[in-house]
Amino acid sequence: MRTTSWIAGLNVLGIVAILGCQGRPSPADEGPALDEIRGEHIAAHLQFLSDDLLEGRAPSTRGGDLAARYLSAQLALLGFEPGGENGTYLQQVAIVESVVDPSFSLSAGPGAPFKYLEDVVGFSGVQSPQVRTAGEIVFVGHGIVAPEYNWNDYAGVDMKGKVALIMVNDPPASAGESQLFGGPALTYYGRWTYKFEEAARQGAAGAILIHTDESATYGWQVVQSSWSGTQYSIPVVPGQPVLGLKAWVTDRAAREIARRAGQDLDALRKAALVRGAQPVPLGIQASATIVQKVQQKTSPNVIGVLTGTNPQQGVLYTAHYDHLGMREAQAGDPPDADRIFNGAVDNSSGLSGVLEIAQSLARAPARPERSIYILFTTAEESGLLGSEYFAAHPVLPAGAWAGNINIDSLNMAGPSRDIVLLGAERSTLGEMAKDLAAERMRVVGPDPAPGNGYFFRSDHFPLAKVGIPALSLSDPVEYTTADPAASTAMKDEYENKRYHQVEDEIQPNWDYAGAVNDMQFLAELGWRLANAPEMPRYNETEQFARPRQNQTN
Ligand SMILES: [Zn+2]
Repeated sequence: MRTTSWIAGLNVLGIVAILGCQGRPSPADEGPALDEIRGEHIAAHLQFLSDDLLEGRAPSTRGGDLAARYLSAQLALLGFEPGGENGTYLQQVAIVESVVDPSFSLSAGPGAPFKYLEDVVGFSGVQSPQVRTAGEIVFVGHGIVAPEYNWNDYAGVDMKGKVALIMVNDPPASAGESQLFGGPALTYYGRWTYKFEEAARQGAAGAILIHTDESATYGWQVVQSSWSGTQYSIPVVPGQPVLGLKAWVTDRAAREIARRAGQDLDALRKAALVRGAQPVPLGIQASATIVQKVQQKTSPNVIGVLTGTNPQQGVLYTAHYDHLGMREAQAGDPPDADRIFNGAVDNSSGLSGVLEIAQSLARAPARPERSIYILFTTAEESGLLGSEYFAAHPVLPAGAWAGNINIDSLNMAGPSRDIVLLGAERSTLGEMAKDLAAERMRVVGPDPAPGNGYFFRSDHFPLAKVGIPALSLSDPVEYTTADPAASTAMKDEYENKRYHQVEDEIQPNWDYAGAVNDMQFLAELGWRLANAPEMPRYNETEQFARPRQNQTN
C-alpha cells in the first residue's frame, strides 16, 4: 500500500512534467480515476468469477454463460454501452467441435501406412464427417513466405492438389545476418499454426509437419495428447483456403517418407537452411481419410464500449473469461474430489483487473477521444477462438483500432519494478509504454523467453495478425517486495503446480499491490492511446505491419 501511494504521488508530477512532449496526455484531472483501482475490488470480482458455482467457465456451459452475464452486468453498471449484437453486450461465436476417429492412418508411397498416434496424428480444416486427401508430397523446407526477409520456400511450385512436407521452427540466423528470422527469438513463421495457414494459402491439399523434440521444445507425447482428443475451431468462411489434411509425423516417419522417395531427410533439411533453396517434389503420393464427429456450438464474447468523441476509432482491452470447465470423474476419486478448474489466476484475475480499469476509465471527468472497448473473450483455452472470431468481425474496421492491451493473468506476488509487456518491441506502443514507465519509476521488462513464442499464445495474437498493434501483460521478474525471493517462489509455485490444474484457486498469501500498480499503468496507457494524435503502428520489419500496409498501398 505504501508503495502504491508513493508511486501515485510521483505519477501526478510525471504527467505534468511531460505535457506537450508525449503526444497529448491528459492532465491528471482529466484522465482515468486511478485511485479507484483497488485490491479489495479485484478480490471481490475474483471471488465470484472463480467460485465453484461457475464450474470452471467452459464455453457453452451454464458456468461459462453465468460468467458472461456477470461481466455484461458489470459493464452496464459502469456505464459502458453494449458493443455486441442487436443492442446487447454479447457477440455470439460459433464453435465447431470435432473428434477424429482413431481408424486414421497416412499412406505415403510404397510401403505400409503410417500408424495413428504411433507415427502420425491428423485432423482436417474441412468441417465434414469424412474428408479424403491425396496428392504428391513436396518437401518445402520451413514452409515460409517472408518478403521482409526475402525468403520463399514455395518459390516456383504450384501446390494445388499437393501435400506439403514441412520442418517446424524458423531458419537459423547466419554469420552475415544475425537478425534473420529474429535471431534467437522465435518468429511467428516458426509456429506450427503459421505452417498450416501458409500451406492453405498456397492452395495445398494437405500439409505434414515433421516433429522433432529439439525444434518443438516438447516431446511427441505432447503432440499425441494435444491432437487426439476434441479439437475446436471456428466455422470456415466461404472462400477461405483450407487444408483437407493437417498432420504431424514423427522424425522417424519423416525419414521413412524421404527414403521411400529415394531421398535423404538430413540432406533435404540441410539444403533448406539457406535462402533460395528450392521446393523438392518427392514423386510419391500421400493419401489419408479423416473420419470425424463434428458438432456446432455457440458461446458469446462480451463487448462493452465507452464512447469517445471520435467513435470511428477505438482502443481495445481484452481478457478471456473461459477456462477448462471440470475434469471427468476418475476411478478411485474420493466422493468429494475437487474436479473444478476454477481458473482463479487464469483468468478470473485478468477479468477483475480489466473491470477495475473499465471503472477508472468510466469515471474519468472527460470522455476519451477514441472509443474504449472492453472485450471479454470466450474459448481462449480452446485455441484463441473468441479473439479469432472478433478479428474476423471486429465491430470497427481492423485499421480503425489504435491498439490492443491484453490481460491474461495478474501478478499476485506483490509489487515489481518491471512491467513485462509482450510485443512492446514490435510497435510504437512500446515507446508509449516506456515513457509511462519512466514517469512511474518503473521499467518495461523484456520478454524473458523470446525463444518460447509467448507472444503467439494469447488473445492479442489474432488481433496482431490483422495488423492491430498489441501488448500482452506477462509476469514480472524484479519484485520490490520485502522478500523478492519469496515472491519469485510464489510465482514459480503457481506456474509449476497450479497453472491449468484444479488447484488454480484463491490463495491466502496473495498480495494485490503489484496487480493494482499494473492496472493503474494499463488504464493510463489505454487512456493515452485513446487520445494520442497519431495511430500507433508496427515497426516496418514486423510481419504484423503488412495487413495495414496492404490496406493503404
Ligand atoms: Zn489464460
